[in-house]
Amino acid sequence: MRWEQLSVDASHADAARAAPPLPLALPGAVTRTFDTPGFAGMTFYEVRARSIINRVPAAARVPFEWTVNPYRGCSHSCTYCFARNTHTYLDLDAGHDFDSRVVVKVNAGTLLRRELAAPRWSGAHIAMGTNVDCYQRAEGRYRLMREILAALRDFANPFSILTKGTLILRDLDLLGQAATVTRVSLAMSIGFVDEKLWRAVEPGTPSPRRRLDALRQLTDAGFRVGVLVAPILPGLSDDDGSIEATVAAIGAAGARSATPIPLHLRPGAREWYLRWLGEHRPDLVPRYRQLFRGGSYSPKEYQRDVCERVREAARRHGIGAHEPGEPREVAPPKPPDVEQLTLM
Ligand code: SF4
Repeated sequence: MRWEQLSVDASHADAARAAPPLPLALPGAVTRTFDTPGFAGMTFYEVRARSIINRVPAAARVPFEWTVNPYRGCSHSCTYCFARNTHTYLDLDAGHDFDSRVVVKVNAGTLLRRELAAPRWSGAHIAMGTNVDCYQRAEGRYRLMREILAALRDFANPFSILTKGTLILRDLDLLGQAATVTRVSLAMSIGFVDEKLWRAVEPGTPSPRRRLDALRQLTDAGFRVGVLVAPILPGLSDDDGSIEATVAAIGAAGARSATPIPLHLRPGAREWYLRWLGEHRPDLVPRYRQLFRGGSYSPKEYQRDVCERVREAARRHGIGAHEPGEPREVAPPKPPDVEQLTLM
């Protein structure tokens, strides 16, 4: 078990009201709820993690080996989120629990500093935002990323962040400082710009317009920010009009790359997303049945077609693009040096 008892912090004076029972997998966690409207219906489980730098299993086939995840669960509540199933390891469900019951590793910053200082640590690249979003709403209160970024800066350890959270702008000062001593890679996830679709499938995230604005601000601050055009949703955002509007918008906001990722539906995400689809777009259910009859991924021809159309649009708008999963060539570190990354 990775969690230990955490004593109650009296500074959270508005906390600890009626909340769901503590999951069996989190013995000793401190349960918090907050009165502020932004956290209505949310429960946080504060834990002290025993380790914070995680090695990614080789079978994951992702272009990074080490990750740091200060949270588990994500209030951004994307219906398609591929990380949903990880919540079931905590005796929580992959649906509403994933959105509303979030584990917070309150000692993430201290622990990271200790692990970066350990003689066995090689100084390898650390990826963040690859499981759940490290700039989800909870970060506004817990501020774990500030401690994490300060530690990475102090140890000149290269890192990347992928996010949908505009809260990243709060940490521009630390990102800028880190970029003067190490390689910093930033990416925003913007799969489409249609606001109606956004409200329906990514209800807890900042709007695409606000993400585009964050992209512009990061770019203006000197970062080279990549965009994951992800996920591209069959029948909802895979038409030429949606792709053109999205790629044009990210190009205008300064994206340095556009990486298309067609929707995939692993167990956990699959049930939750298809339930949403059945309720809101039953007309599309037969098409999804057909596309995902083989499992979690749509047919290769479909994926190739979607990716090619994103690439074409990116070329038209002067943005470099590449296949999902292919890490971009990384430039030698020079401040500020930021390129793009992977999932979400
Ligand atoms: S896709 Fe990303 S932002 Fe959306 S719920 Fe999952 S982790 Fe959060």
